[in-house]
Amino acid sequence: MEKKRVLVSGGAGFIGSHVTVELIEAGYDVLVADDMSNCDSTCFEGVKKITGRDDIPFVKMTFCDAAATEKLFADWKIDAVIHFAAFKAVGESVAEPLKYYKNNLESFMNVIEAARKRGCNILFSSSATVYGEPDILPVTEQSPRMPSTSPYGNTKQMCEDILRDSVKAYSSIKGIALRYFNPIGAHPSALIGELPRGVPNNLVPFITQTAIGKRECLSIFGNDYPTPDGTCQRDYIDIVDLARAHVYAVRRMLDGKMEQDYEIYNVGTGTPLSVLELVKAFEKVNNLKLNYKFAPRRDGDVTAIWADPSLANEKLGWKATRTTEETLAAAWAWEKHLAGK
Ligand code: UDP
Repeated sequence: MEKKRVLVSGGAGFIGSHVTVELIEAGYDVLVADDMSNCDSTCFEGVKKITGRDDIPFVKMTFCDAAATEKLFADWKIDAVIHFAAFKAVGESVAEPLKYYKNNLESFMNVIEAARKRGCNILFSSSATVYGEPDILPVTEQSPRMPSTSPYGNTKQMCEDILRDSVKAYSSIKGIALRYFNPIGAHPSALIGELPRGVPNNLVPFITQTAIGKRECLSIFGNDYPTPDGTCQRDYIDIVDLARAHVYAVRRMLDGKMEQDYEIYNVGTGTPLSVLELVKAFEKVNNLKLNYKFAPRRDGDVTAIWADPSLANEKLGWKATRTTEETLAAAWAWEKHLAGK
C-alpha cells in the first residue's frame, strides 16, 4: 500500500523535528517545510541521522506566501498537514502584535485554503495558554477558554476558531487541535532538542544553560504563589511523548476514525509539578547542583495549570509514558551535546 504523506509546516523547529522523527518511525512519508526564520539546520540534520533517512524532502518557504503554499500542495500529494509554522515568543508578541497576527493567522489560513481544495485534513498545534488562569483543575477540553494576556496567546485561540469554522463550512476537511501543556526535554539520542535564540524564556532551557555555565543563575519567578511550595505548577510533557500524540492524531484523521469534524485534545501528563520540584528533580537525576535564587513573579504567569488528558487517552489511545527523570536527563544530554561535551 502506498505510504501516506504528512506535510509538517515548521518541521525544522523543536516540536516539528521530534514529530517528523516519530511520523517516519511510524511509517509515514514526511514533507518538511520551514522558512528557517527561527531555527538553523541543526534539528533537521539530527532528524536525518536519527531516522537514517538522508532523503527527507525539505522545502524552504513561508506559508505567508499564498502562491508558494498553493504550489507546494500542487507539487506534492499531501494526505494530512500538521501546522507548526508560527512565531512563539510571548514577550515579543506583546511588543510587536501585528507581526504575530500577520504571520500566525495568515500562514494558517493559506494552509487551510490549499488543504481544503484537496480534502487534506489539518492538525493544529494549539496550547494550554488558551485556558488562561483556570478556576478548576485539572482542565478538560470543556474548560472555558480565557481571554489571553498576549497576542501570541490570542493567535492560538484565533487559529483554533479559524479551523473550527473552516471544517464546519468546508465539508472536504476535518481538523484536530492539540493543546500542548509544557513541552520539555529532548530526543533520547541527544541529536535534536530545543535551540532557544538568546536568553531562554522557558524554564528547562534556562536550567540546562545555567547548569552548563552559559547563565550564571536561574531565577525562580515567585515563591509566594498559593501552591504547596509557593512556586508555580505546570504539566511538563516530554517532547517525545508529545510528538507521539501527533502520530496518533494523524492516524485517527487518516484512518477515518474521527467522530466529529473538529476535535480538540489536551496533551499533558495529568500530573502537576512545581518549579522547585522540577529544579530538584533535575539536580537529582543529573547529580549536580544548580545555582538558583527566588525572584519576583513574572508578569502574565498563571499560578497553576495541568491537564486532564483522559480524552486523548481514550480517543487517541495515547498516553504519556516517559518519566520526569528520563525527560530531564535527556534535556541535560542535549545541552551537553550542544556544548560538545
Ligand atoms: N520560570 C522560572 N524561571 C525562568 C523561566 C520560567 O521560574 O527562568 C517559571 C515560570 O514562572 C513558570 C514555569 O517556570 O512558572 C514555566 O515557565 P515557561 O516559560 O517554561 O512556560 P509557561 O508555563 O510560561 O508557558
